[in-house]
Amino acid sequence: MKHFAAALLSAAMLLTLAACGGDPDTAQESIQAIAMDTVMVFTAYGQHSTAAAYAAEKLAYETEALLSRTDPESDVSRLNSAPADTPVELDGRTAAALEAALAWSERTDGAFDCTLAQVSSAWGFTEDTFCVPGQEELAGLLEHTGFDQITLNGTAASHAPEAAVDLGGIAKGWLSDEILKIFQKNQVPRGRIELGGNICVIGDRPDGSPWRIGIQDPADPLSADAFVGILHLTDAYTVTSGGYQRYFEEDGKTYHHIIDPATGYPAENGLVSVTVEADAVEGAGAMCDALSTALFVMGEEQALEYWRSSGYEFELVLVTEDGRVLVTEGLADRFTAGEDTGYRYVTVS
Ligand code: ADP
Ligand code: MG
Repeated sequence: MKHFAAALLSAAMLLTLAACGGDPDTAQESIQAIAMDTVMVFTAYGQHSTAAAYAAEKLAYETEALLSRTDPESDVSRLNSAPADTPVELDGRTAAALEAALAWSERTDGAFDCTLAQVSSAWGFTEDTFCVPGQEELAGLLEHTGFDQITLNGTAASHAPEAAVDLGGIAKGWLSDEILKIFQKNQVPRGRIELGGNICVIGDRPDGSPWRIGIQDPADPLSADAFVGILHLTDAYTVTSGGYQRYFEEDGKTYHHIIDPATGYPAENGLVSVTVEADAVEGAGAMCDALSTALFVMGEEQALEYWRSSGYEFELVLVTEDGRVLVTEGLADRFTAGEDTGYRYVTVS
């Protein structure tokens, strides 16, 4: 009996040693969270991997509680339900996310518009009560949209009459920036922050090769291994937005969740998905998220024009309705086309 207990104890000690990996540099933690309507995976290496991954998870739930539009207690709901032109004191994190959203609304000339809350609700995308709104209703709602309808002073914000905020197009990007800071504080040498289609990779893979990120084939959105191509990246953000991610059908027509602020209708400008890639520097997560939505709204020509005038701060993979995959020059050598996808691949400069 004694022998048996001793054997168990030493087996347990061996297991503990194996779990620690002996070498703190190879210690790895990977945890999953379901928050903000998305599956999130935080993978961290290094001595403080566990602390980093759990701090990331905690911040994800806190951010959801602050920015949710369906939780009446959230900061965003408190702001939206407050009387017009009455400042509401926000958590510093909500104010920071709102500040980024307003800045990107302005920088994209309103293609990214963080005030489409009422329009999204009219389509039922917020509450999962899908329906096609009337044209007059949409026109009425669009009169109260635009970043100039929101005032932010420090951490106090107010809205113009009938205007409301929706941070759904930037919340995950903003969160990924904050999680990257947490990883850096914990000296995570390599890792991966995955918030649905928002991905940040830190360092390279343990074998020294770049991380691999598949770009979903929009024609086969439910398949786990249908990719238009693979990105090979180190220290980078990438965000994909597409009409195939969230949509409903009515009378044989498909309506998706990315709204063209000019019309109030789902954007239909010839693109089926937009992937934005950038170096993992401060604020790049929010940039990629806002731009993936904005460039989807703009359509191919305007999106490429925007890229050319941006000073190549970011790179793109655009999938068009007519079956082309456009990869911008700066990303071409880090992109591998999928096999037998049926797409025509073009490098653009
Ligand atoms: P997802 O969050 O599904 O990954 P996006 O980043 O493209 O995709 O964000 C889409 C969300 O952003 C919508 O669910 C809605 O809340 C909001 N939204 C829709 N159209 C716009 C727009 N033109 N500008 C900013 N936000 C938008
Ligand atoms: Mg976005």
